[in-house]
Amino acid sequence: MSVTSQLEVVKSTLPEGVTLVAVSKMHPAELITEAYEAGQRVFGESRPQELKAKYEILPKDIRWHMIGHLQTNKVKYIVPFVSLIESVDSAHLLEAIDKEAAKCGRTVDCLFEIHVAAEETKTGWNYDELREYVAGGALASLQHVRMRGVMGIATNTDDESVIRRDFERLAQYRAELAAFFGEEFDTLSMGMSDDYPIAIECGSTMVRVGSMIFGQRDYGAR
Ligand SMILES: *Cc1c(COP(=O)(O)O)cnc(C)c1O
Repeated sequence: MSVTSQLEVVKSTLPEGVTLVAVSKMHPAELITEAYEAGQRVFGESRPQELKAKYEILPKDIRWHMIGHLQTNKVKYIVPFVSLIESVDSAHLLEAIDKEAAKCGRTVDCLFEIHVAAEETKTGWNYDELREYVAGGALASLQHVRMRGVMGIATNTDDESVIRRDFERLAQYRAELAAFFGEEFDTLSMGMSDDYPIAIECGSTMVRVGSMIFGQRDYGAR
């Protein structure tokens, strides 16, 4: 199956109002171009240098989302152009983004990445700590970031009830935090190739789909 036809398959299953982020990490620019020519404009990458390199050679109306763990010393690579940083997992990182965005004269849209999966290894905020941070008012001094919602990854399991529980928690956290941020805190980024239909049932407004569109990321293994 080609990227174009796979993209059509995924798009045909998405309700109106759900944004498709085509996750192109580790895939070459040619495949991104194929998706672009099929009309896709939102792409997700997980490494800042790779994101910047692709930004530089690909059409400028692409909206790039950062979806992977971001180290503060790499923030500078992406802040000048990134459309949404979905993986804000610490106060320290958010402050670094704010500072860099101020230098560029930008306000950068961000999501809080919240840890809901059973695996210890998945990154993201502990919700209680995030709530405390937000309620403490520290964000008031950050003028160059705009919090738009939450992102999360469900437990990697075949047990649909566990996945559903994780997504329902994320949806609840977004709704609770919206009390602090208001109407623009409207984004609920959840769902990947294996679980996005469940995520949509749980209220996802943004799905991040990689392998189902571009195939397996096995370039290094060849
Ligand atoms: C890689 C990745 C995806 C896409 O995963 P697929 O299973 O290939 O759809 C989505 N979200 C995040 C945070 C990722 O790192």
